[in-house]
Amino acid sequence: MTISSKILILRTVSQVRQWRAKLFSDNQSVGFVPTMGALHAGHCSLVRKSLEENDKTIVSIFVNPSQFAPHEDLDNYPRTLDRDLEILESEFSDKQVDAVFVPKVSEMYPNGISLDIDKQKGAFVNVHGLSEQLEGITRPQFFRGVSTVVTKLLNIVQPTRVYFGQKDAQQCVVINNLVRDLMIPTKVRVVQTVRESNGLAMSSRNEYLSKEMKDRCSIIYKALKEGASLYNENREKGGKVNSSIIIDRIKDIVSQNDEFEIEYVAASHPESLEDVELIEPGVGAIVSCAIKVPKESSTEKARLIDNIILQ
Ligand code: AMP
Repeated sequence: MTISSKILILRTVSQVRQWRAKLFSDNQSVGFVPTMGALHAGHCSLVRKSLEENDKTIVSIFVNPSQFAPHEDLDNYPRTLDRDLEILESEFSDKQVDAVFVPKVSEMYPNGISLDIDKQKGAFVNVHGLSEQLEGITRPQFFRGVSTVVTKLLNIVQPTRVYFGQKDAQQCVVINNLVRDLMIPTKVRVVQTVRESNGLAMSSRNEYLSKEMKDRCSIIYKALKEGASLYNENREKGGKVNSSIIIDRIKDIVSQNDEFEIEYVAASHPESLEDVELIEPGVGAIVSCAIKVPKESSTEKARLIDNIILQ
């Protein structure tokens, strides 16, 4: 156990359990914010909400290998622990984060963890029916990894409330179902997406982009907003709205930049995540997208996701 200037740093499961046991006996509520680090204002808004709603707040920083496929960016994913701790120490004035959980991979995966799903051994969690579409199409092991690590973390921390960002809309649906189906006694709270002033959704992966590319990427949210305006115009005429006109408009706008590669733009039912052809006012839809954009000084692309909720 280490104490940085203000925050308690916990590195093992048993240290977290010890910290938590005392709070159970004192009847204190605990808010938990799981992250992969490289913290930005989006993460901070989750932390702020947790500080507001709970007696104590714990943040985890863990780049979870099991949600990355072998060809993905696990090795290059930004790891900035010192800066993250500084942010957690300096960002919040009224109330401070109480603890940060920074486990090693071996602590979270005592059996070890291969990125090759066929070689993985041990217990894994999968939310069937909600993990295969959208992000799951090109990242088939992603939500199995997320669901597994979130289950582990919730079992370790046993928080009163756990905080997730709307930016990862499918993740929110998956986790809501996971917590409900496995009877986990934690409330899931979803916090609105925090954006740069130009509208670009904040993301740790934005660190891969040049300043100029970040400006160009602001077109993604502009396109989503255009799609939402089109929905609202059609909704006012009465009846259901054809999702294809919205999807086409968004694709048209994003593809004006020929360096961008559209992986998907979809309109999904807010609970089942099934494709919706006709959007029913009152039920609404999640309109989400994944766009690949050029990384700074590299021939590779960064994959950005964003979404907008239609009511
Ligand atoms: P990550 O570190 O990317 O795994 O994200 C940790 C949590 O922060 C997840 O619940 C994300 O949805 C949330 N998050 C990431 N970016 C944002 C953002 N721009 N606004 C709000 N929440 C976010």
